[in-house]
Amino acid sequence: MTRILLLGGTTEASRLANALAARGADAIFSYAGRTHALAGQPLAMRVGGFGGVDGLRQYLRDEKITHVIDATHPFAAQMSAHAVAACQVEGVELCAFEREAWSPAPADRWTRVTDIAAAVEALPKTPTRVFLAIGRQNLQAFAARPEHFYLLRLVDAAPDPLPFPQAEAVIARGPFTEESDRALLETYRIELIVAKNSGGEGARAKLDAARKLGIPVILIDRPAIPPRRVAGTIDAVLHWLDHAAPPAERGV
Ligand code: NAP
Repeated sequence: MTRILLLGGTTEASRLANALAARGADAIFSYAGRTHALAGQPLAMRVGGFGGVDGLRQYLRDEKITHVIDATHPFAAQMSAHAVAACQVEGVELCAFEREAWSPAPADRWTRVTDIAAAVEALPKTPTRVFLAIGRQNLQAFAARPEHFYLLRLVDAAPDPLPFPQAEAVIARGPFTEESDRALLETYRIELIVAKNSGGEGARAKLDAARKLGIPVILIDRPAIPPRRVAGTIDAVLHWLDHAAPPAERGV
């Protein structure tokens, strides 16, 4: 019997959950539990880390998982690497849903950097009003540059205190529109955006708005993830599910 573990935390994971439920799949949706406002979805759910590769291996065995769908965010590289390692050893089929990375249009003013540290390094030397659109996990790295004003956009309440002397947080959950992001950039008189190259439609709005307003962007490249099977659409994931090797009998 096919039993699926869906690693989530993205809009596409929630869409996949709906698609799996619609076809009556036996599937468990796993969240890291970083945000408090968990979106409602129709599958059985578990929340929290597995305890590294060994913990995930144990979980796959205990739950008799035959297929893992990794629909985590492209920057959730640790979870994805753990999934590759655990599935390999346990002989579980794995497919990752991977959004296409964004690439620049001619009018975009992007500086591409390899990681968070390089983004901090690439900040201007003079005080600047920055939209720091990177979520909440890596904010501390920017505390080294307190001369800037930082606008944050977070899903949950902002950390208190914020690690910057000049900052404001708006609490909002995507997807966003170009129009509303343009209004946000204008309201806060933003001069520079720092963002992750997440890909996807809803998070792209800020880049489209930046292009219209001529605002430069420091765009952080995705972290490397070990080689794995990848699907670029929800349909492709479902197709893989239907055609992946049939589950072997798992030892009891
Ligand atoms: P990460 O650095 O790759 O993962 C750190 C640890 O969190 C993992 O080793 C695992 O703990 C646990 N974990 C992550 N995703 C999990 C899941 N879906 N189910 C159960 N445990 C999970 O990931 P992250 O960057 O902290 O992201 C955490 C979650 O937020 C992910 O689900 C991701 O999709 C979502 N998210 C991340 C970003 C981002 O920019 N990083 C943006 C939007 C959404 P154990 O080692 O104990 O198993």
